[in-house]
Amino acid sequence: MTESRPKRDRPTVVQCPTCGKSVEWTEASKWRPFCSERCRLIDLGAWASEEYQVPGSNGDAGTPSDDEPQH
Ligand SMILES: [Zn+2]
Repeated sequence: MTESRPKRDRPTVVQCPTCGKSVEWTEASKWRPFCSERCRLIDLGAWASEEYQVPGSNGDAGTPSDDEPQH
C-alpha cells in the first residue's frame, strides 16, 4: 500500500446530484454532496415521491412441487 496523498490546499469537489453544481467537500459545505439545502430537499422529495417498491417480492408463492410422498 502506498499512501501518497498529495497534501495540497485543494478540497475534493463533488457535483450536486440535483443541479450538477460543483460543491467543495469541506466542512463549510454544509449540505454536501448537495450545493444547498434546497437541492437536498429537492432530491429527497424526488426520492420520496417515487413508489417505494421492494424488488424481489413478487407474488411467486405456490410453486407446485412434484414430490411424491414416499411410503
Ligand atoms: Zn445543487
